[in-house]
Amino acid sequence: MHEWSLADAVIAAALEESRKEGLEEITEITLKIGELQQLDLEIFKFALDELARTRDEGLLLKDMKIKMEPEKAIFRCRVCGKEWDFGDIGLTEEEYEAVHFAPEVAHAYIRCPSCKSPDFEVIQGRGVLIQSIKGKSAGKVQ
Ligand SMILES: [Zn+2]
Repeated sequence: MHEWSLADAVIAAALEESRKEGLEEITEITLKIGELQQLDLEIFKFALDELARTRDEGLLLKDMKIKMEPEKAIFRCRVCGKEWDFGDIGLTEEEYEAVHFAPEVAHAYIRCPSCKSPDFEVIQGRGVLIQSIKGKSAGKVQ
């Protein structure tokens, strides 16, 4: 259900944006999916397609392409200010999986690579963002 509510929020935001921009049709939407976002991408994609077909009679969204790009997780140490990503710390595959599927356990596996503090925050890679929306506006259609 998590995937469906996220997809619903994405479609609602896309429709809102298209109204603001005066678009007649949304042709492409690019999403950034955070590395730490717990999401079943197949269900998410299916939900987006389903909602795109049924929302607003599907008129705006019927030929919409959905692109998804991964967004790297970035951590920042609260003690020394160092920023790093998974590539910098060499987790084992099991540790990476554990953190990926339950980001709240990150602090058990990850330490600041500079000062070894476990006191850090996730500054990027935890959500789903709309990177861009492309569409045709009424005036520009041939
Ligand atoms: Zn540090």
